[in-house]
Amino acid sequence: GPQPTYRGRFAPSPTGLLHAGSLVGALASYLDARAHGGVWLVRIEDIDGPRTVPGADRAILETLARFGMESDEPPVWQSTRTAHYARAFDRLEHAGLVYPCGCTRKEIADSLANAHERHTTLAYPGTCRTGLHGKIARAWRLRVPDGADAEVTFEDRWQGTQTQNLALEVGDFVLKRADGQWAYQLAVVVDDAEQAITHVVRGADLLDSTARQIYLQRCLGVPTPSYLHVPVVVTAEGEKLSKQTGARALDRNDPLPALVAAARHLGLALACDADNTTARPHLAAQAYTSLDAFYDDAVAAWAQRFVDGG
Ligand code: GLU
Repeated sequence: GPQPTYRGRFAPSPTGLLHAGSLVGALASYLDARAHGGVWLVRIEDIDGPRTVPGADRAILETLARFGMESDEPPVWQSTRTAHYARAFDRLEHAGLVYPCGCTRKEIADSLANAHERHTTLAYPGTCRTGLHGKIARAWRLRVPDGADAEVTFEDRWQGTQTQNLALEVGDFVLKRADGQWAYQLAVVVDDAEQAITHVVRGADLLDSTARQIYLQRCLGVPTPSYLHVPVVVTAEGEKLSKQTGARALDRNDPLPALVAAARHLGLALACDADNTTARPHLAAQAYTSLDAFYDDAVAAWAQRFVDGG
């Protein structure tokens, strides 16, 4: 059949303002879409009610626009899409792949601590696979296969071949919580499929979720996109840069230095680095007369490395 056109996305959780770490994910997904002549979408992942900061969604979209990145189609809010998640969940349940789990966090931690003496597994031990045994359902889990059937392998465009055994490393994972909240893993798979996303480009902190998402895609009979996980920005202490680890909000009035720093983090061969030996993004950014000039350069550098067979 016809080749699907490239469709990529940036999917921020509106838990705060964009910072130097989240900019790297936004920029990488944007450059990959542009370098492929594709479509780039923004999806606001606001299903985690307690973590969502009111107004952060609008602030993120505003900052992206000031940084020259605008969704090619109207942004989508996950909070408006819960009926889709419910439908996918029902299909999995009818297929016999879902069971209720009554374990508390403490019970799971205790059984893992015990199991840890004997095995190396840190996966959910499957306590409720055989029934709730009088407990109250606290979550609904997706059954993963046993043994070698649980192995998921994929080719990451940055990180290379990745393999995870879901049974050993994850266990049956949560799709829905007792409070009705949908799990990220389910929502992201449903939305990537419904938005016909062909290429996922995001931070390597999500590398560990990808096998779960591919397994869910197989259960739901939807295509698996290609994946590229970029290195995350870390603090001096080696922790992922986030609001909790002291990230400051991006300066909307001065996008170029932050964009140059993000492109450098991605290892792109920027023209400003060839002409200008300064390590300081504020000075290097002066090589660009406009956002368009930066993007022309950055898209070419990205294409050379990730599209033209680099
Ligand atoms: N909303 C997720 C996050 O901000 C990203 C989801 C994704 O890119 O798959 O961590």
